[in-house]
Amino acid sequence: MDHTKINLIVRLQHIDNLIESIMSLQKGLPEEIAALDEDLAFTSRQIEARKKIADEHLKLRERLNGTINDCKEKIRSFKEKQTLARNNKEYDALSKQIEYEEKEIAQAEIQLQDIAHAEHHAQELQKKGRELIAENRYDEISEEMMPDDVLQQQLEDLTRQAAMKREELESIVVETAEEIAQLRQTLESQRSEVAREAKRLLDKYDHLKSGTLQNAVVKLDRHACSGCNTRVPTNRHTLIVQGGFYVCESCGRIVVHERLFEEAAAGTR
Ligand SMILES: [Zn+2]
Repeated sequence: MDHTKINLIVRLQHIDNLIESIMSLQKGLPEEIAALDEDLAFTSRQIEARKKIADEHLKLRERLNGTINDCKEKIRSFKEKQTLARNNKEYDALSKQIEYEEKEIAQAEIQLQDIAHAEHHAQELQKKGRELIAENRYDEISEEMMPDDVLQQQLEDLTRQAAMKREELESIVVETAEEIAQLRQTLESQRSEVAREAKRLLDKYDHLKSGTLQNAVVKLDRHACSGCNTRVPTNRHTLIVQGGFYVCESCGRIVVHERLFEEAAAGTR
């Protein structure tokens, strides 16, 4: 059996492993950043929604207070006219107009009270939220219960965390960029060599890696495939020790002696 072919594919796996171990320095940072961004967007939306309601209340309140002032002004002038009324009919007509304006004022005041109630209710909910926070009962806090200042603090914390993680990731990417680029080059030339010398093995390797497997070639570890821990039949041990390979019956990985990985490591670096 030609063992050089298997050596070539082990070396390919070794280079893949090196790239993988450098990439793992990113320690799930991209995923963490994505999760932080999602929380950040959610918090921003909450703050925006509250701001929108507050703005609407402010505008409505201004408008209603304006209406009340206008009505009061009108009433004042109607009352003035009443003192000059020449007869009962004129006087009564003015009384009706005053009555109308008074109803307008009453309606505006009801609306102002509604706003005050809504705001009071929102504040009560936040007060409840603050109590729950103090008791560490976070899972009982609804969105509305989150106090404004806590929400604002949350936004600032998330923004800072996301920026820190981004910086951390960025520095790792910069630090490892050159090494990764070199390894990718080595990987490419190794691939073309394997493609020339052992096409069928390369196809098998690619096929295994196209699935969910990270490693297509693994070491024999305590008489078992180190990819899935299935025992390798005893009668295949000799072949593996001699530098051959065994295709795991359980996971399909190519199982080789660990010596081959040591040789690949010595040859790569
Ligand atoms: Zn296996």
